[in-house]
Amino acid sequence: MQPLVVVEGVNKHYGELHVLKDITTTVGKGEVVVVIGPSGSGKSTLCRAINRLETIDSGRITIDGKELPAEGAGLARLRADVGMVFQSFNLFSHKTVLQNVTLGQMKVRKRSKAEAEKRGMELLDRVGVANQAGKMPAQLSGGQQQRVAIARALAMDPKVMLFDEPTSALDPEMINEVLDVMAGLAEDGMTMVVVTHEMGFARRAADRVLFMADGQIVEEATPEAFFSAPTSSRAKDFLSKVL
Ligand code: ADP
Ligand code: MG
Repeated sequence: MQPLVVVEGVNKHYGELHVLKDITTTVGKGEVVVVIGPSGSGKSTLCRAINRLETIDSGRITIDGKELPAEGAGLARLRADVGMVFQSFNLFSHKTVLQNVTLGQMKVRKRSKAEAEKRGMELLDRVGVANQAGKMPAQLSGGQQQRVAIARALAMDPKVMLFDEPTSALDPEMINEVLDVMAGLAEDGMTMVVVTHEMGFARRAADRVLFMADGQIVEEATPEAFFSAPTSSRAKDFLSKVL
């Protein structure tokens, strides 16, 4: 498999706290990697390091062979290759749904308004909210807003999508509509890194599960192997609490 995200010997500290301890892993093109682990284990920090929302102390992270620059126009362009969806929906609250999915395309991808709107509407349709295009984000449900956030990230034609607990802030009845969109993306061959506590999604969509604890990758396995026969005591303990 062609490597798309390569993380090599990455370390990160917050003061005295060693949050990423020598993390090495590769996400192949088209691969879906689900990251699970207890709260505070460094999952969000790893996601944020991958698109340079966080600096790292040592090691190297490349996307499609390129290291993201620390700042400048090059960073905006390369960061657009990494779509990110957070727990909180992070839409531009004073812009319409359609504007949310077109502004980045025009600014970073230099598309015309017409082009951006065409692509934006296609993606809103794909995530099932095309009929909400003229509304403001606050008029949408949480599940709809999160689907708009996914469409907005996709509009930049990212090479990889990172999801950091995308359903954790949603009411239970809205979780599946977001997971279904994500599973559809996975089926269509999108490269994805997904931090989630939704074990059903991991079983259904993951090619590989990466279990983190205390800033380390403790276990890496197929979902079948991981869920049926975790090898580490940390993973066994974690699974006994979430399953
Ligand atoms: P997870 O996403 O697995 O819950 P995080 O990556 O958010 O874990 O956090 C890993 C550790 O780093 C936690 O102990 C957290 O408290 C700490 N941490 C996260 N962000 C910061 C920050 N900006 N400053 C200091 N400590 C932080
Ligand atoms: Mg987190």
